Amino acid sequence: MTDPLETYRAKRDFSTTGEPRGTGARGSRALRFVVQKHAASSLHYDFRLEVGGVLKSWAVPKGLSTDPRDKRLAMPTEDHPLDYIDFEGVIPAGQYGGGSVIVWDTGTYRNTTRDRQGLDVDLDDALGRGHATVWLDGQKLMGGYALTRVATGKQERWLVVKMKDEAADARRRPVSTEPESVLTGRTIEEVAAEDA
Ligand code: MN
Repeated sequence: MTDPLETYRAKRDFSTTGEPRGTGARGSRALRFVVQKHAASSLHYDFRLEVGGVLKSWAVPKGLSTDPRDKRLAMPTEDHPLDYIDFEGVIPAGQYGGGSVIVWDTGTYRNTTRDRQGLDVDLDDALGRGHATVWLDGQKLMGGYALTRVATGKQERWLVVKMKDEAADARRRPVSTEPESVLTGRTIEEVAAEDA
């Protein structure tokens, strides 16, 4: 698939021109993301980005930080269906993962990955190459995040790091201070008790 606005964008530097980048086309349309807090055998946060009709997913043990100095380990997990984006409830024990899940944050994101010439890079390609940047517009998480693959093979590992921008904040600790679901206001303990 090619971006129909590739030539239009390639001719312009959008940090200089006030012309629109164009919306509704690949590379600029606001897609959705979710961070699901998941109390499985070990607590973690599933970071998922809508890419090519599925949710690309990573399990982030410590969750995403707003502090650019924090390098958070992220282990890729299998692509999930788009419907999973608002899943909240209890996965029966014995099912893969198991445990309770809340929608800890959700919103839209834009792929901001550029190559060395400053041209847009398709997010699927960028993830395949092992480096991508996204701009999140969530309720708790905002601004740029960089995803970088640091180990390949059977135990593929990535780092997700807040980029230095106006949304960076070393003092915020949303994982601990804002534990509730953005959909229902419930904590994961409440979901575990109510939906069991
Ligand atoms: Mn999980």
